[in-house]
Amino acid sequence: MTYDVVIVGAGVTGASIARELSRYRLKVLVLEKEAEPAFGVSKSNSGIIHAGTQNPPTSLKGWLCVEGNRLMREEIAPDLGLNFVQCGQLVVIFDEADRPGLEKIKKEGEELGVRGLKLVDRAWLDANEPELGPEVKAALLVPSAGIVSPYRYVYALIENAVKNGVELRTLAKVTAIARVQKGGFYVEASGRVYETRFLVNAAGLYADEISAMAGAPTFRITPRKGEEYLLDKKREHMARRIIFPMPTAESKGILVIKTSDGNPMIGPTASDTQDKEDLSTTDEGLAEVLRETRRLMPTVSKSDIIAYFSGLRPVSGKDFIVRCEESAPGLVNAAGIQSPGLTAAPAIAVMVAGILKERGLALAPKEQFHRLRRRPAHLFQVPLEETRRLIEKDPAYGDIVCRCELVSAQEVRDAIKRGARTLDGVKFRTRAQAGRCHGGFCTTRIMKIMQEELGLSALEITKRGPGSELIKDDRK
Ligand SMILES: Cc1cc2nc3c(=O)[nH]c(=O)nc-3n(C[C@H](O)[C@H](O)[C@H](O)COP(=O)(O)OP(=O)(O)OC[C@H]3O[C@@H](n4cnc5c(N)ncnc54)[C@H](O)[C@@H]3O)c2cc1C
Repeated sequence: MTYDVVIVGAGVTGASIARELSRYRLKVLVLEKEAEPAFGVSKSNSGIIHAGTQNPPTSLKGWLCVEGNRLMREEIAPDLGLNFVQCGQLVVIFDEADRPGLEKIKKEGEELGVRGLKLVDRAWLDANEPELGPEVKAALLVPSAGIVSPYRYVYALIENAVKNGVELRTLAKVTAIARVQKGGFYVEASGRVYETRFLVNAAGLYADEISAMAGAPTFRITPRKGEEYLLDKKREHMARRIIFPMPTAESKGILVIKTSDGNPMIGPTASDTQDKEDLSTTDEGLAEVLRETRRLMPTVSKSDIIAYFSGLRPVSGKDFIVRCEESAPGLVNAAGIQSPGLTAAPAIAVMVAGILKERGLALAPKEQFHRLRRRPAHLFQVPLEETRRLIEKDPAYGDIVCRCELVSAQEVRDAIKRGARTLDGVKFRTRAQAGRCHGGFCTTRIMKIMQEELGLSALEITKRGPGSELIKDDRK
């Protein structure tokens, strides 16, 4: 099969590029090794749409972050029905001696084009962010920062790309790439070979391996682990904005994070590792996160923690790599997409489309590009009146499957219709199993619905793809 563009990876970077290219008359294929999109780095992050501050003004990632933030606010969120909340952020200082550093962040942010930055004093903070710790002296207010559900963001992008003609193959791990003599590549994934004129590498932690396979061993990815701790929804209003300390050389620091689904989060840590699969959390990580966030907000308590996870930032040097590789004509790398990759993704996508055009790919707009996507109904996000209306229309909205997070049978069915094939896929799309009981009460019910909708036996249902089946048949 011959394609104009094959994209490796269905995280936020690959999904954004797929959606961007779906505007044009092209044959585009996305290959993803996992059972579903958004199962890589894009599922384990803070969900912040950064404003662009805390990046060097000359960096590619700084510029792409500011543009990505604008695209999210003005186009992506309204067009794809995302629950993006522009809550703003504060970068706080504990010591007056750090004030010049804060002013430097403001100046550099303004150079990058971040608007509305303002230094605020303790009196302002007392009135607007009353739970901040007594050590906090002043802060930089950054109004354009916001929050989004990272997985629902990726699913919206991919769904819309597929609606516009992009092909998506999951459980398709790219294992070999060969050059075609007349130009382009043969890409082998899970036993099938695809021919393509252009290859876009958005493989996250494995982008160095894909680039090397295609003939450009030009960089290495080092994972930088971040542990995050999710708090009970009862702490939803402890912070009104995302609270940052002054950044360190490795990261933006350990934060108090609002999330678009209500549960606040604390973290992430930042430590380099060699293992691209090590998603463990540690006692030391927890102690560090509690110590640092209690300085920001002393009311943070260990007993508020209901879940924890870690994510691995795909780091290669200090900046993103978005370029074509001269040693492998036709290859475009979108690699080293560490933080703020979730924010920058739509701008990276526009940049990649531009590079492909420069390299000879004709970008002829489609006669009909379906720009809009209807927002799926989520009971936990709508007022009671709207819930009543939904139930009147369809009683399955009144059949509550997940009581911790208020998710109905209809939402689970809808998630499956939109592509969920695993229990995690249902969780990321609906929040069913994401509450305090971690699916203790709802998993069997969700499995039953999956059996009905997908025609599977209970033995075939997995948590996150082959090898994670929940029920084992001992007779075999
Ligand atoms: C702890 C933490 C917090 C963060 N917080 C934020 C934040 O608040 N805001 C922000 O903007 N950014 C944040 N980031 C960064 C952000 O999460 C990443 O920049 C972004 O998710 C990277 O997306 P990606 O699509 O490039 O990679 P991924 O999501 O990893 O996607 C790559 C995909 O490629 C697939 N793949 C790999 N190898 C192959 C192969 N051989 N064949 C087929 N498929 C393959 C993988 O399975 C994966 O799905 C954070 C990161 C971490 C770790």
